[in-house]
Parts: sequence; C-alpha cells; structure tokens
Amino acid sequence: MRYAKLSKADFPKLFEALKGYGEVFAPVEEKGKVVFRRVENLKEAKLEYTRTLLPPKKLFLPPEEEILSFEGETYTEKLDGKKAVLLGVHACDINGILKLDRVFLDAPRDEYYARRRENTLVIGLTCVPDKYCFCTSVGSGYASSGFDLFLHDLGKEYLVRIGSGEGYRLSKAEYFKEAGEAEMKLAAKLEERRKGRIKRKINLAGMGDLIETEGKEGWEELTRKCLACGTCNLVCPTCQCYDVSDLLTLDIRKGSRVRRWDSCMLKRHALVAGGLNFRPTVVERTLNRLSCKVGEEVRCVGCGRCTVYCPAGIDFVEMLSTIRGVAK
Ligand code: SF4
Ligand code: SF4
Repeated sequence: MRYAKLSKADFPKLFEALKGYGEVFAPVEEKGKVVFRRVENLKEAKLEYTRTLLPPKKLFLPPEEEILSFEGETYTEKLDGKKAVLLGVHACDINGILKLDRVFLDAPRDEYYARRRENTLVIGLTCVPDKYCFCTSVGSGYASSGFDLFLHDLGKEYLVRIGSGEGYRLSKAEYFKEAGEAEMKLAAKLEERRKGRIKRKINLAGMGDLIETEGKEGWEELTRKCLACGTCNLVCPTCQCYDVSDLLTLDIRKGSRVRRWDSCMLKRHALVAGGLNFRPTVVERTLNRLSCKVGEEVRCVGCGRCTVYCPAGIDFVEMLSTIRGVAK
C-alpha cells in the first residue's frame, strides 16, 4: 500500500477534485441524526461522527428503485452509471460494502449494483466510536481494502492510505505530501487509542451452534419485546434482501419493475404461494436473522445500528451474550 499526507487546510482542494470526479455524498447532520447525502461544499459535511442512520449501501442498493420500465413488448433497463464519490466512510461500513460485493458482484452479477459500485469512489475516514460499537470483535475495525483513499485523522493533517489506481491518481496532486515514519507512527498510536475506546466485546466462536441449540423458553424470553418491525434489517450495512414487484397500468400495456429493500423480520418475508409461511413466528425470524449475521459466517460488522435504532430497546450484543450464557 502507498501512503501520503494531506494537511486539513488543503482538504477543500481534495474536495474540489472529488467534485470534478462526480456527485459527492458525505455524512451530514439532519434533525439530530447523521445521514449520507449529496453535498456541494465541504462545510456541509460532518466529518467527526459515530454512525449514520442508514449505511452507505443505500448509494449502491437504494431502498427503492425502478429497475426497468416496459410498454407493449419493449422494455428499458434503468442502469445508473453516474460517477459519484462516497466521502467519509468508516472502516466498519467499508467492510460492510465488501460483504455486499461478494453477494452482488460475484456470479450472478447484479448489474444495477455493479454499475454504481464501479463508478463510485470510496473515501474512508477515521471514526468516533461510542458504547454500542463492537467492530473489533468481528474484525471490522480496520479497512484493508474496499476504498480509494482512507484518511487517518492526525490532528492538523491526515495520513492517507491509497487503495486504488484512482486514489493514486488523486494523490498525485501538489497538495498531497510524502508521508514519513513520524506520521506512520502517530497514525498507529492514534489507531490503538481509538480501538481502546471500543469497550463492547462479544465472543462469536461457535455462536452458530449456540443459536441452533438455544431452548424454546430462552428464545421466547429473548424475543418477548420484539415488534417485528424490521428496523434492525433496514439499518444494517450487510442486509441484502430485496423484493421485486411489477406495477402495471389497468390495461397492462405499460408498467415498471421496482425493487425495494425487504426484511426477514417481517411476517410476510417467508410467505410463499398457497399461504405457507416458513417462519411465521418472531422466534423463527430472529433465529434466522442471528444465524445470518453471526452463524457459520460472520456477516455482522459491529456497527451497533440495530441496537441503537431498535424501537423496543433490544440489544444485539446482549442478546448474543445471553445465548452464550455470559450476559451481565
Ligand atoms: S428492530 Fe427491534 S423490534 Fe424491530 S424487528 Fe428488529 S429486534 Fe424486533
Ligand atoms: S447486525 Fe447490527 S451491529 Fe451487526 S452489522 Fe448489522 S446493524 Fe450493525
């Protein structure tokens, strides 16, 4: 990996260069929440933040999108190849994007996702952890790939890791300077300090087996408060389920095909023709969700969103700790 340094005073110059590449989306504070949205000026961005409400996946896989329209026997696919920049993405969310890449870029490739992913620069940024973060327990506290540039905050300047050819091209601008041993050591020290602030820990060894063998009474207690609202899925950076529907005019000559995020916590998610439902109860749906996130494969990146935004106050890490038998 190559490195450079960028003075904070020169960040606006980088921002202008990013704008020259495409539309820039950055974290912005809105009504007390931080959200990714399009910005025209670097001053609009909130660069020190903990987590956004929705993860940055919404840029690659929008909550709702028309994927094609049709009239008679002809149809037009809505493939979006617009160039864009995702600025200020934290390590956990970059690792979340990498997990989605495996789903949408591996065969069969999802062209709608792939076009946006390939045309979007990802600029990573040091995070500000809170008591709900547990990325270090799931190996997502550091991004080794999945970005074009990653900016490590050193105070008055950034140590910049260069993660792609496009990132390298950007780093050739005169306002990037050579990084030396001092900046590298300081970045490593600050990184250790930041990791030390992540106090939440969860041992996931064998968690898939523990989830499978948890008794009926235990599950009923764990899910007693759950409203089956699906919020935990909607805010999760690695949830990938979507639903597709065709919306037709009354004469069925014209219409559009729309896909929307779906949630495995909703009752109709596993409903099939004939009225059979594979997961009719909240217990079954929670078991499915936990197995998907921390079962055989760990797909959770420890961002804490599902706990922070659960309207019933269900704590994801506490639930897993109870299953392990180590809850406080
Ligand atoms: S957000 Fe909370 S209440 Fe809603 S489905 Fe998820 S666990 Fe249940
Ligand atoms: S399961 Fe919860 S903590 Fe884990 S990545 Fe999804 S939202 Fe974040």
